[in-house]
Amino acid sequence: MRIDPKLIGFDIDGVVSNTSEAFLRILKQKHGIEGIKVTDITEFDVSKCLAIAPETIDEIFGILLRNPIEADLQPMPHAVTVLREIGRHAPLTLITARPEPKPIAAWLQHILGQDTFRQVRLTAMGDHDGKAEYIKKSGLKYFIDDRHQTCLELVRHGITPLVFRQPWNEGRHNLLSVSSWREIRDLCE
Ligand SMILES: [Mg+2]
Repeated sequence: MRIDPKLIGFDIDGVVSNTSEAFLRILKQKHGIEGIKVTDITEFDVSKCLAIAPETIDEIFGILLRNPIEADLQPMPHAVTVLREIGRHAPLTLITARPEPKPIAAWLQHILGQDTFRQVRLTAMGDHDGKAEYIKKSGLKYFIDDRHQTCLELVRHGITPLVFRQPWNEGRHNLLSVSSWREIRDLCE
């Protein structure tokens, strides 16, 4: 399988950014809750799999939504290198369920650098459902997301999803999946 980089788009949290690492780190530092591993996050909605107060979960996600730079949100391994490479040949279409574009745009600029950031087309939808419409409007055929429910929705709209493997989507689908940004790079030649 070969993908034209002009035809692929990306989700951000759990794909470009290592949001679960930041979540668990803040949980430990700010709330003193230790011993939870990323493999314990077996549901996209973490309140369904971790025995943590919903207010604590909401507070941490609030921090990550509003202040990703201050929270030291990290990119996934090799995401920056591969996005810089793809950005030399194609626009970088990023579509997130986050409600506010500004904080995550600043974070993208921060990690990618100004040159690559100029290639970014960012949509903050404010909703986990309905991505297909935006993906189609952007003229894309492929999309990488870590939420299997989103990927299944895309199939129904004729878009080819690639599930970015994470503990919360493991064994939940029979779709194409990728485990790393190196795999994404190899597909986008
Ligand atoms: Mg995601």
